[in-house]
Amino acid sequence: MSDSYRIVLDDKDMPKAWYNILPHLPEPLAPPISPATGKPVTPDELRAIFPDALIEQEMSPEPWIEIPEEVQEIYRLWRPSPLHRARNLEKALGTPARLYYKNEGVSPPGSHKPNTAVPQAYYNKKAGISKLSTETGAGQWGSALSFACNFFDMTCTVYMVKISYEQKPYRRVLMHTWGGEVYPSPTDRTNAGREALKKNPDSLGSLGLAISEAVEAAATSEDTNYALGSVLNHVLLHQTVIGLETQKQLELAGDKADVVLGCVGGGSNFGGMVAPFAKEKMDGKSDVEIIAIEPKSCPTLTKGKYEYDFGDTMGLTPMMLMYTLGHTFEPPGIHAGGLRYHGDAPILCNLVKNKVVEARAYTQNPVFEAAVLFARTEGIIPAPETSHAIRGLVDEALKCKETGEEKAIVCCFSGHGHFDLAAYDAYLEGKLQDYEYPEEKILEALKDVPKVEMPK
Ligand SMILES: *Cc1c(COP(=O)(O)O)cnc(C)c1O
Repeated sequence: MSDSYRIVLDDKDMPKAWYNILPHLPEPLAPPISPATGKPVTPDELRAIFPDALIEQEMSPEPWIEIPEEVQEIYRLWRPSPLHRARNLEKALGTPARLYYKNEGVSPPGSHKPNTAVPQAYYNKKAGISKLSTETGAGQWGSALSFACNFFDMTCTVYMVKISYEQKPYRRVLMHTWGGEVYPSPTDRTNAGREALKKNPDSLGSLGLAISEAVEAAATSEDTNYALGSVLNHVLLHQTVIGLETQKQLELAGDKADVVLGCVGGGSNFGGMVAPFAKEKMDGKSDVEIIAIEPKSCPTLTKGKYEYDFGDTMGLTPMMLMYTLGHTFEPPGIHAGGLRYHGDAPILCNLVKNKVVEARAYTQNPVFEAAVLFARTEGIIPAPETSHAIRGLVDEALKCKETGEEKAIVCCFSGHGHFDLAAYDAYLEGKLQDYEYPEEKILEALKDVPKVEMPK
């Protein structure tokens, strides 16, 4: 086994194709349903906001999809990303387990999100689109898309969830520096925003509402398309560079994963990390445990219902079969803004439903406790979202300490927390609240889930 601290791949070993798990899911993915027709969405309905290349990827039966050379060129600014062996953390915990983290925080915007922002900008540019509109929660997606659009001379318009806009002014500056336009959502620029402001002028916003605004802006303008940073099949597809590189790196290290875990907001870093591992597991080639980690304040996989629901608050987007807390669910303002979404990627939900993936939820304080331990051992300050994965990593390592098992535990380190220091400040001063979403509130929001017949 390798004694490296960092397992690095050469440029030439970067994957040349993304892995598409769609044809290999345990049961076929239920189609998205159009709110207008009540029938499966047709490619035509998606053309108002997405380019053909991405619509094809969304439904593709091909297991491998080539990464365009122009996208690879930009990927090479930070990819392949390193896989670290967390030796200091292992020592601090006294665990016999081998702990690894795949560091997606080395991208210029600081998270895994440019892995999909770059190809999305590329395919839109090729289709003759000059503007992309989008939403952002914690600001990572908006900065990733601003970063990507900048390389293709496109304008990026970002609807940023108001609580994050206020909590994270530096993310906004980052977006402006890469040339993006940023508005705190709800805004008075769209019908969706104006309606939300009428109901509650002090609304802190939510990712679902910001999506409504960004989709409306794209659907009502010829030269503008919409870009989503998570949830959709093509997003998870692009993120599989993470898992594919990790597999090569573990092989280089002479190791094999017993546990793979990551945090889940909409499921993209997790889905991209675990897809190739899930394939091996479904093929009977490994019995790797795959664990999705989410916040207790937004417990989609652990407390949600597996039903068709809208992707946004207003009910403009197609309905998808997923675990959901109800599209009207307004999560509390926890610091892991990127994990405050009512639904999850249908691909991930399919894997959870069919028990290929298991899910677990944590509250904020134990999450930050693990993050600070990580910062004091491995040196890197994890994003609050990522810190959920770190809590999972630490708990799995502690389990091994009890049982003496020498497992290899691999986590996706989705991003660094340099723009989230206010959250660390709150934690270090003992001001963070542990919030568990009350059962009856979940049931209340679930009442608004539309009734949809399962398509045959
Ligand atoms: C956006 C984000 C997440 C959550 O999004 P997913 O689609 O679930 O990956 C997690 N970590 C970081 C650092 C993020 O920026």
